[in-house]
Amino acid sequence: MINCMDCFGRGIQDTDRKSDCGRCDGTGEVADEMKLWIMKGKSLQRCRLSRRLSIFDLAEMLNLKPDNILETEWGYKPSTYSMTDILNAAPAATMTLLEKLREAEVQ
Ligand SMILES: [Zn+2]
Repeated sequence: MINCMDCFGRGIQDTDRKSDCGRCDGTGEVADEMKLWIMKGKSLQRCRLSRRLSIFDLAEMLNLKPDNILETEWGYKPSTYSMTDILNAAPAATMTLLEKLREAEVQ
């Protein structure tokens, strides 16, 4: 276990000192892998936003609960879907011309 990155091991939220930290449930510790989950979650969120999908859109497309998408993007748990799943669910045809140009630039 490692110190929680949201509350720095204190187990309480900065914004509301009476509430337990949502990430570690007030224990101050999280799984070692959570750093990875957070990085993966951020990538998945960027991917979703690049396709202009709401959390509800994506949940419906992947047949998952919106809570699942949210918790994955926040890195609360390991992801059960991948960027490929998002890209397959929302084909590039829905991209604007500008986005296509940007993508071409990157490659
Ligand atoms: Zn915490």
